[in-house]
Amino acid sequence: MEKIEQLVEKAQELLGGNADVIAASPGRVNLIGEHIDYCDGFVMPFALDRYIVIAALKNGTNQAKFSSVGMPDVTIPLGQALECDEPKWGNYLRGVIHGFFQRGLVPPGFDACLVSSVPGGAGLSSSAALECAVATLLEGLCGVTLEKKAKALLCQKAEHDFAHVPCGIMDQFASTFGEKDKLVMIDCRTGEPTMVPFENPNLTVIIANTRVHHELSDGGYALRRKHTEDALAIIGKSSWRDVTMADVEAVWETMGSPVNLRARHVVGEISRTQDAAKALAAGDFETLGRLMYESHLSLKDDFAVSCRELDIMVEIAKEIGQEGGVIGARMTGGGFGGSTVTLCESHRAQEIIETMAQEYEKRCGITAEIFSSRPSLGAHLVKIGNNGGWSWDPK
Ligand code: ADP
Ligand code: MG
Repeated sequence: MEKIEQLVEKAQELLGGNADVIAASPGRVNLIGEHIDYCDGFVMPFALDRYIVIAALKNGTNQAKFSSVGMPDVTIPLGQALECDEPKWGNYLRGVIHGFFQRGLVPPGFDACLVSSVPGGAGLSSSAALECAVATLLEGLCGVTLEKKAKALLCQKAEHDFAHVPCGIMDQFASTFGEKDKLVMIDCRTGEPTMVPFENPNLTVIIANTRVHHELSDGGYALRRKHTEDALAIIGKSSWRDVTMADVEAVWETMGSPVNLRARHVVGEISRTQDAAKALAAGDFETLGRLMYESHLSLKDDFAVSCRELDIMVEIAKEIGQEGGVIGARMTGGGFGGSTVTLCESHRAQEIIETMAQEYEKRCGITAEIFSSRPSLGAHLVKIGNNGGWSWDPK
């Protein structure tokens, strides 16, 4: 895996010169609290040490030109309202540039090269990493610093309006607010993040990309979101945070399946995430692990966003179990494929990664991508020093 320093060098090399501005933004993994960021719930992600890095050089025109390895180039006119277009990946760029334009911010024309160590479409939010990297690049080019929350919301709107994925606020908040050794615990009702220390060297988070990819934009995600809205309307409350399991049971038949199952997931997951935060603070890892397994079952059976490969990956972790150093495991991200997150004891992590890889290959015939990551710095500008080296400018 390439470190961010190597990504920065590669982006500069592809650009063919010393960049005027370089921006980086990470993917994320969510420990617990899934599919409830759009239901006023709590979520507990952190920024991965995997980044999308974009290097840009002013080109004296009024166009932005983006290239990304293996993707068609994208040219975007600056200083005017934008609409969706081809190629598709350009819509994340158009959405963010459009958001800046709506705020009266128009950058000078530039050529940009993008490199990434965030696996795409793997439930690790390469889309938010891309949006937040572009937003940070534009901040650098326009000479402004947006308030972090405003920046994350601008990026979320880009994903809604230009990529047509009605995502919640988790991904862009994690990519924007991420800090070293901190979880970004978000109260999605108030839209306020709280940084929770995650420094225990005995804990390691393993991310396992099943390499099974189902499109989030094909309607499955949007349909889940609609089910939760329908359920809340029948329950008759204005926020999921005010809904109890008894409220759900009282209208179980009226809601009917699968809406009632979706409702049970939302209420259960909100309370599991609150309990997980308490367990983490108390160092009660047994409870934390149990909550992660319960979260996975709920996503599988009630929310129906898991798949065979995710279930198998979680099952393998569970089989390794406490004796083998595994604390808990679950699918992470939007689902329908993608990745699992496994919390484990650090001194067993390497052994666990190897067993998971071997067993997964044996049972699914697929070579998974499995790695560990610590919570890392969120979106930031990387400035070029006078000596041609680079230095951080974390906001
Ligand atoms: P996730 O956010 O879980 O990775 P999404 O389906 O939301 O999955 O976003 C993946 C999309 O983001 C890709 O289809 C592509 O359009 C865009 N993307 C991600 N990484 C890159 C990259 N390095 N270069 C160009 N586009 C990218
Ligand atoms: Mg995404």
